[in-house]
Amino acid sequence: MSNQLSDRINSLVPSATLEMAAKARELRAAGKDIIGLSLGEPDFNTPDYVKDAAIQAVQDNYNAYTPVDGYVELKDAVITKFKRDNGLTYDRTQIVVSTGAKQSLYNVAQACLNAGDEVILPCPYWVSYSDIVKLADGVPVEVPTTLERDFKMTPEQLEAAITPKTKMLWYSSPCNPSGSIYSKAELRALADVLLKHPQIVVVSDEIYEHINYGVTAHASMAAFPDMYDRTVTVNGVAKAFAMTGWRIGYIGAPAYIARACNKLQGQVTSGANCIAQRAVITALTESPDRIQYMVDEFKERRTLILSLLREIPGFECNEPEGAFYVYPDVTAYFGKTLKGTEIHNASDFAMYLLEHANVATVTGDAFGNGNCIRISYAASVNEIKEAMERIKKALG
Ligand code: PMP
Ligand code: GLU
Repeated sequence: MSNQLSDRINSLVPSATLEMAAKARELRAAGKDIIGLSLGEPDFNTPDYVKDAAIQAVQDNYNAYTPVDGYVELKDAVITKFKRDNGLTYDRTQIVVSTGAKQSLYNVAQACLNAGDEVILPCPYWVSYSDIVKLADGVPVEVPTTLERDFKMTPEQLEAAITPKTKMLWYSSPCNPSGSIYSKAELRALADVLLKHPQIVVVSDEIYEHINYGVTAHASMAAFPDMYDRTVTVNGVAKAFAMTGWRIGYIGAPAYIARACNKLQGQVTSGANCIAQRAVITALTESPDRIQYMVDEFKERRTLILSLLREIPGFECNEPEGAFYVYPDVTAYFGKTLKGTEIHNASDFAMYLLEHANVATVTGDAFGNGNCIRISYAASVNEIKEAMERIKKALG
């Protein structure tokens, strides 16, 4: 039978992060000793107090469909969290809980974009943004940033990228993959540009909010009163609470956008998993101090991986202020031949590291910047040391 798939799915690119993780898993199953630094996934256990809440929910017979946009108690916990951590005031009509922040982003794209609407994406951006936008028939508009400017978009660059078709701006801060954090002043400067273009809605992805190493304080675009009505704040528990597989994300948004996401979700998922939702009530209600031990550990690993990377010639790095990735520029290797393999670009380089160093990373192309590779340091100290040693040897 000929290919009966839709044009939409045929033109969809698989997630490069998940694909690389799958490749590493396959090679491991075939007996290869692969160190996986491709996936942004904490290697900690979910904290006991969160697990206990889930076990209690099972015992208490939480098994029925939940409200489509989340349990009221969870929406209230999200409201409390937004107030406590971000100074944001939302009511229940503005919160939608989804199956991961990835679905939250998908919902918002489907809710807001018409065919041909442009979405500004400062590069590097998180891997799925551009395909989520394309699935909604939107047009990603990539704005390249530079390592020298810590991979942050300037107000001038934003202004230059705006056209009459611009509908949205999406960014993550702390940024996956660069670890950069926009300060309050930097966000204000971007907001001043956006004020001149009232048709633009902002998606502020704050899923790495708590994984912040204390240089630049976390700031939310929606905390500016003049941006509140046109900003969707996306967050989730995957990263800070080591809950990637529990699949809970959420938004705080203008009520009309939240209503639209709720309507969509009602036709597509019927809402997020009930047990995971009960556990997240506890995760968000408890103080973020209880997860600080993971952040402290990530900070030590960041120091370690930066110092080891500096010993490898040809890797040029910014100093990530949050999240758990380094995003070195590896253009020094382009055009070279290593062990008979010609390196033309970041994909060749990442593949070379997989084959000759047994270390899985992700090509920078997946994040809209082909000069770099992304290395996740959500791995043990021993794995990081061993991986850097192997890379050094493979390039030596
Ligand atoms: N946004 C960013 C920036 C991410 O790195 C991720 C990684 N998973 C997500 C959203 C999606 O998170 P979730 O696992 O909650 O879907
Ligand atoms: N967000 C993580 C990453 O960037 C998980 C993978 C994914 O969701 O695509 O690696």
